[in-house]
Amino acid sequence: MRAVRREIRGPAAPRSESTGRTRATRAGSPAGPADGLDGVMDAEADGERRLDRLTWPELAGPAREALPLVALPLGSTEQHGPHLPAGTDTIVAAALAAALAAHRPDVLVAPALAYGASGEHAGFPATMSLGTAVLELAVVELVRSLDATARGIVLVNGHGGNAVAVGRAARLLAAEGRRVLVWAPRPSTAGRGGQHAGRDETSLMLHLAPGLVRSGAAAAGPSPPPTVAELVRHGVRALSPNGVLGDPAGASAAEGERLFTDLRNDLVAAVAARDPAPTAYEGEPDG
Ligand SMILES: [Zn+2]
Repeated sequence: MRAVRREIRGPAAPRSESTGRTRATRAGSPAGPADGLDGVMDAEADGERRLDRLTWPELAGPAREALPLVALPLGSTEQHGPHLPAGTDTIVAAALAAALAAHRPDVLVAPALAYGASGEHAGFPATMSLGTAVLELAVVELVRSLDATARGIVLVNGHGGNAVAVGRAARLLAAEGRRVLVWAPRPSTAGRGGQHAGRDETSLMLHLAPGLVRSGAAAAGPSPPPTVAELVRHGVRALSPNGVLGDPAGASAAEGERLFTDLRNDLVAAVAARDPAPTAYEGEPDG
């Protein structure tokens, strides 16, 4: 999947480093300061960084340039094989948005959009899809309605099937003069295997939510995997009876942690490149 990046405009200037906080990553994690993941789940735990935990007066007042960036996780609710939960993409996207907020004090995390464009997974239990047209409109309206809350929006897309809708929405929003950055995993940060419920996603989930992984049920999909054209034409159900594309064999929490760190670093860098100095906006017009 290719990352589509829309600009969040801002003058080039060095960004102040991180929050300096050093909380534990998550319950039960042995992670220490050396693993580079300190604070990954901070925004999950810290109501002050979650839009849905705040009141409007708490978000009102500052000049536009002092408003936060809002990270909106875009996921899906769709089958993820016999071993991963239907919310896998949403969980990964929300965790990445939380990690971004843990790294930048000017980022606020919005509730994840847990539905996406999942038509290719129709026919499996657990799949709930908005489809491309509705998802495009949903993203457009959600970003438009954030006008009084955010100086820019980061769309953190966790589901490849959302890419067309999100790309279309971003083009329209950019034409309206809105600051929107679309981020999704790129091939260089996407690890080594599995389009869907394969090794990468299984490793990520073993890192982020191990209690939700049914490791004993993990099984490979068809080999060789179907092409994208075949998937578009026939759907996953006809080509992979167990819903897996790839092979979860070899997945591990350690690999998931490395993959998550790569993804987080790419997201942090993408936002820093577009919005390096959040407090330095001075009268720059939108658009
Ligand atoms: Zn997925």
